[in-house]
Amino acid sequence: MTMNQEIITGLVKKVIDELIMEKGSKSEGLTGLVDTVDEEVENAVEAQKRLIEMSLERRCEIISSIRKAVLDNNEMLSALSIKETDYGRYEDKIRENILCATKTPGVEDIQPIALSGDHGLMLLEFAPVGVIGSLTPITNPTGTLIHNSISMIAAGNSVVFNPHPSATETSTRLVQIIHQAIVEAGGPPGLVSSVREPNLKTAKEIVEHPKINMLVATGGRPVVNVVLSSGKKAIGAGAGNPPVVVDETANIRKAAQCIVDGATINNNIFCTCEKEVIVVDEVADSLVKFMQETGKAYLLTPEEAKKVTNLVVTPERKINIAYIGKNVQVILREVGVELGEEYRLAIFEAPKDHPLVWLEQMMPVMPVVRVKDVQEAIEFGVEVEQGNRHTALMHSTNVENMTAFARAIQTTIFVKNGPGYAGIGLGGEGHTSFTIAGPTGEGLTSARAFTRQRRCTLVESFRII
Ligand code: NAD
Repeated sequence: MTMNQEIITGLVKKVIDELIMEKGSKSEGLTGLVDTVDEEVENAVEAQKRLIEMSLERRCEIISSIRKAVLDNNEMLSALSIKETDYGRYEDKIRENILCATKTPGVEDIQPIALSGDHGLMLLEFAPVGVIGSLTPITNPTGTLIHNSISMIAAGNSVVFNPHPSATETSTRLVQIIHQAIVEAGGPPGLVSSVREPNLKTAKEIVEHPKINMLVATGGRPVVNVVLSSGKKAIGAGAGNPPVVVDETANIRKAAQCIVDGATINNNIFCTCEKEVIVVDEVADSLVKFMQETGKAYLLTPEEAKKVTNLVVTPERKINIAYIGKNVQVILREVGVELGEEYRLAIFEAPKDHPLVWLEQMMPVMPVVRVKDVQEAIEFGVEVEQGNRHTALMHSTNVENMTAFARAIQTTIFVKNGPGYAGIGLGGEGHTSFTIAGPTGEGLTSARAFTRQRRCTLVESFRII
């Protein structure tokens, strides 16, 4: 039994096992899974041709059917994901899947643009790119796959997935469910697919396959570099290390609550989660006190912080993957600290050069760095984000400070006075995305990001005013 499962209560475990057995048996015999990349791509080429011959109304029905199937199977998928990867929290996986199923834009995202003038009419349409190869991460095996399926199909494409090998069972089960939903709505088989046993070899075959028109990598820097050097149109959605800056004008109690909520969703594995706090000295003590008062954050002693650091950071200064996405109780138990179930996060005061300030820890252990003033906080925030152009946060009531940080850090997402997940539409305005393209600039991707623009010009006619 893995560590995370140890702390799931007997009752929850029983429910999870029953759900997996019940829903799992129902998905037997569905398709969407094949043995080879070549087979997958041939099916995907055919399916995409058939999709674009269908009406947009049918495409909308396909999208609705995918949304419904995901919601119907949410409990099973969330449970399976936790069971297989041992990353995150069951109740947060449920939220992740609902978010992706309901707030990923559909066909409405590719509305054409028309422009009329002295010379006639110009119509700009967002056309499909064809077959897309999508490499998905272990951290969000369901969220990314749901979001990518809806977005890419809404744009008129077919998609060939190469899920992370350590999330194969969850991802292939989800591909089957989505595939079934498409076929039930009258869509072509093969529109989404995965090989039964995805691995680095199949990923490479997808990257190099001549009939795949576009690549999308959602993961760390190396895989983003792989797709960007493929010679194909590519979107890279890479790693982040979101700093959260708190200045002396902030509502400190609210900031403390937001930071604890944001940093603990799914045990910190979202790429948008707060990863380090940078706080102005004047309010640092209050912030830490209010974080403790949420009842969810445990303040480590310097001695405990040292032990935890040695546990979760390897001698090569890398994150020890054994602790990614684990509950805080599991991590702290290893250093002799027993915490009650109500705790979600461990915090500690750290110097600027602490490894957890610089590494993307993806676990509920968070450094708090004190700085002299907001200027220093902004400068240090920019440094620790390390040019990922991903996400940054600020708690402040000073508009000039917020503007200064947003301008300096240049991230794709900038959240003010809220938790990090508000930036992906959970309790914040706007659509969601689980492929946030900082390196290539598409931002929070949606259907339009998976299209190519085509212009149609009608000269000297159709201006009716
Ligand atoms: P990862 O980079 O290890 O794997 C991602 C995918 O790429 C997997 O399918 C993997 O099999 C494949 N892959 C990895 N190396 C490859 C290579 N050399 N050639 C071909 N394929 C390769 O990432 P992970 O550990 O699964 O996910 C966590 C990372 O993803 C974190 O850094 C997180 O911030 C990032 N992430 C980013 C976003 C975003 O939207 N920007 C979303 C989720 C996760």
